[in-house]
Amino acid sequence: MDQRLPDLMNDTVVNVAQLLKQPVGATRTFDLQVARVPLDDELSAREVRATIRLTRIETGILAHGEVTGVVSLVCVRCLTEFDQPFRANFDGEFRPSVDVRSGEALPIPEDDDELFIIDHNHELDVEPLLRQVILLALPMRPVCGDQCAGFQPTFPADDEEGDERLAVLRTLLGEGQA
Ligand SMILES: [Zn+2]
Repeated sequence: MDQRLPDLMNDTVVNVAQLLKQPVGATRTFDLQVARVPLDDELSAREVRATIRLTRIETGILAHGEVTGVVSLVCVRCLTEFDQPFRANFDGEFRPSVDVRSGEALPIPEDDDELFIIDHNHELDVEPLLRQVILLALPMRPVCGDQCAGFQPTFPADDEEGDERLAVLRTLLGEGQA
């Protein structure tokens, strides 16, 4: 019953008209690659790759899969930007907005963050699901890595002072050896 769909490149929309006409349990599998997925006003995911299996269920379509990629985050300790890789498994339910056979509009549950909608052209867009999954996969307090040096203020005055002290020390040592 599983059919392989063409891979999606920089696209997150798949037409599911045929799958909606299939019996419950029928599946379609595809891979996608997207250069950039906007997450919110400031963040976006890059190099996003996912393998997704769509399964026909009683109420619509279940999207199941795994997504990987990177997001530029700011380290909470040293305040520098770094690339945070992510990997997450997900399940998301998509409800059709029209009946695929009759073309009649179907009731859409409102105010349900867990549900995604298949539009009237039977196009299923996985982007809102991926956005939700990726945001949840990111650390609450991102740290750039085990080698993070922590917060290191750099004041030129400090450096000069340090150099002067070193110069004094070198002079003393030099005199000691002479
Ligand atoms: Zn850091």
